[in-house]
Amino acid sequence: MIPAYIVAIGDELLYGQTLNTNAYHLSKMLTDVGFKVIKHLSIADERQVILDTLDEMAKVAKVVLITGGLGPTKDDITKKTFAEYFGVGMRRDENVLKHIDDLFSSRGRMMTEMNKSQADVPTNCKIMHNAYGTAPGMWFEKEGCIFVSMPGVPHETLSMTEKEVIPRLLEYFKPPFIVHKKIETIGVPESILAQTIEEWENALPSHIRLAYLPHLGKVTLRLTSEGDDKEKIETELDEQVKKVIPLIEKYVYGYDGELIEEIIGNLLKEKNFRLSIAESCTGGYAARTFTQHDGSSAFFEGGVIAYSNDVKMKVLGVKLDTIIKHGAVSEQTALEMAEGVRKTLGTNIGISTTGVAGTGGGTPEKPVGTVWIAYSDENETVAKKYQLTKNRNLNIQLTTNAVLNLLRKKLKGIE
Ligand code: AMP
Ligand code: MG
Repeated sequence: MIPAYIVAIGDELLYGQTLNTNAYHLSKMLTDVGFKVIKHLSIADERQVILDTLDEMAKVAKVVLITGGLGPTKDDITKKTFAEYFGVGMRRDENVLKHIDDLFSSRGRMMTEMNKSQADVPTNCKIMHNAYGTAPGMWFEKEGCIFVSMPGVPHETLSMTEKEVIPRLLEYFKPPFIVHKKIETIGVPESILAQTIEEWENALPSHIRLAYLPHLGKVTLRLTSEGDDKEKIETELDEQVKKVIPLIEKYVYGYDGELIEEIIGNLLKEKNFRLSIAESCTGGYAARTFTQHDGSSAFFEGGVIAYSNDVKMKVLGVKLDTIIKHGAVSEQTALEMAEGVRKTLGTNIGISTTGVAGTGGGTPEKPVGTVWIAYSDENETVAKKYQLTKNRNLNIQLTTNAVLNLLRKKLKGIE
C-alpha cells in the first residue's frame, strides 16, 4: 500500500465559501492508479499551519498532493513556506517565465513584476508544467516522500495531475491495482439489503471489502479489492457479484455508476414505448431527470407541470369532484393525472406525482412529505403512497427516484 494524502490550502475553503472539489477529483485520480488515499486536509493560508502539516505528512505519507496558495498576491504563501520548510532559496525558472510571457502576449497583455514572480520557485523542486495558467506546479522529494504543490484553480490542477503528476508518480512507485465493482440498487433500505445478503457478506474473503453507499433512496454496493494481477482481481469480484445478484435481483438497476433514468430510457426504446409525465410536487424535476441526457427524445414525449388544481383539471382532465372529495394530494388525483397525461399526450405510458413537498402546506391528515405517484399504461393505472421527509428539496428528489423505480419495475415486470 502506498499511502497518499491530499492537502487543500486556502482560507476560502475554511470560511465555507468554496467547496473543496480538488480533494474529490484528486482522490479519484490517485485511487484509479492504485494509491491508497488516507486523509484529506483543508488548512488555512498560514505559515505555521502549513509547516506543521508538512511535518506531519513527512512522517506518514509517501505521496502528498497539495493545492492552493500559489497566486502572485500576498495572501498566497505556499511557495515561500515550502522554501522555508526545505531550507532552500528561490530561483527564477526561465522556461516558466517564457510560458507566462507567451500566455500574456496571446491575450495582448504585458507582464507585471508580480506576474513574473510566478516563475520564482524553490531551488530544490522540479517544475510541473501548468498548461492553463501562470503558477507552475512543484515536485519535491524528501526521504522517499513526494510532495507536489499545485495551484488551487481546479481545471489547472486536474490537468496538471493527469498529464504531469500521475505519469511521474507511476515511474517512481509501483502501486497495486485497486478494482471496484459497484452494484446499483433502488427501493430497498440499506439495513434490509444488509440482512438479505448477510450470509454472502460473512462469507466474503477478508481481502474483499464491501461498502454500502446510500443516496436518496438508492444504495450502491461497492466491492473493492487490490493486488498486482488486475485480471485475477476482476474475475474474483465478478464471481462475487454473480453470487449476490440472485438474492437482490429485484432491487438492482445497474452496475458501476449506470444511471437509472438511462436504463429506463433503454428499456422504453427497446419496447418502442413513449413516456409522458404529469408533475405536481416535483415541478418538472422528473422530466428534467430524463431530458438532461442526450437522446431522450427517442422515448420522452413531454410533460405537464400541473401545479395548480386548474391545470390538473383543464389540461389533464382530473375531475372537480375528485379534487373536492379526495384533495389534490390523493390516490384518486394521482391516478387521474397519470391516465390524463398518457391520453392527452398520446403515449404508451403516463406517470404522475402529487404531494406535499413542504415546507408549508401540511395538515394533520396529510403532513409534509405525503406523496402519491401513479403509473398508467393501456392495461392498468396504479398509484403508490409515500411518507417522505420534512425537507422540500429532498422530497422532490426522493419522489423522482420513487417514480423512476416504479417505472423500472413496471417495465421489467417486477411486482
Ligand atoms: P489559489 O491557488 O490559492 O490562488 O486558488 C485560486 C482559486 O482556486 C481560489 O480562489 C478558489 O476559487 C479555487 N480553489 C482553491 N482551492 C480549491 C479547492 N481545494 N477546491 C476547489 N477550488 C479551489
Ligand atoms: Mg488562495
